[in-house]
Amino acid sequence: MTRIYNITQYTNDDSIYVLFEGCNFQCKGCYIQETKYDYHLPIDVRNRLKKSKGFGQLSLDEFEIIIKRLRVKRAVLGGGEPTLDPELPAVVELLEGLGVKTLLTTNGHALNEKLIGKLEEAGLSGIRMSIRAFDDAIHRSYTGHTNKLVLKNFRTLAKTRIRLIAESILIPGLVEGNEIEKIAEFVASVNPAIPYRIDGFIPFNDAPWKRPSREEVTKAAQLANKHLWIVCCLHCETGHGEREVINIYPSRRDAG
Ligand code: SF4
Repeated sequence: MTRIYNITQYTNDDSIYVLFEGCNFQCKGCYIQETKYDYHLPIDVRNRLKKSKGFGQLSLDEFEIIIKRLRVKRAVLGGGEPTLDPELPAVVELLEGLGVKTLLTTNGHALNEKLIGKLEEAGLSGIRMSIRAFDDAIHRSYTGHTNKLVLKNFRTLAKTRIRLIAESILIPGLVEGNEIEKIAEFVASVNPAIPYRIDGFIPFNDAPWKRPSREEVTKAAQLANKHLWIVCCLHCETGHGEREVINIYPSRRDAG
């Protein structure tokens, strides 16, 4: 049995988002507390899923049947924390075998050399690792855990053939521009060609921090850009164009 409990499809880029149950961090602004299902789904769909009972995690065979019905080119594996699922390498191998490029999003804490080796062997195309803070005290206060393993695993991943992307969240009052610059310096010390994405914080779960302005995110990106070749930020982009987010699993029928 996998830990997969929700699959959504994005019509703008032939991709799916696969959500895995459970996480080893306790981030103060975690959206999962507010909405367990993909928060890009329309609110009425999320509410219906929240109220429904009686469906759970998929077996690998059930997952395969669903994927074969879809015509997708990319799968983003997230959640939750996918690396907690012992079936993750099998999920990656299945998708890549069907011609679906996989991108794992992870907090990086549970990775280790053995798991990284298995994921590389399974054909994983890319990893987007979130580095919440370079300062360990800030990292501990936000996630409940040290960042030591995250930084160590990031260095290990950079030596593989898996495409590595770093990601951080700008949180005004906690992870500010100077902290983003320290993370960028760390990433540059590994390899300045690693792309770095900066997201603006979205205040979920009664978190005490506000959403940054577009100017604040742009400024943080400029600081990171002093050290790295490729820096992007969601606030700096003009949007996703026309897209529809469709719930695939649990199905409407299952949701009742
Ligand atoms: S790593 Fe992601 S899923 Fe886990 S607690 Fe933090 S925000 Fe939530």
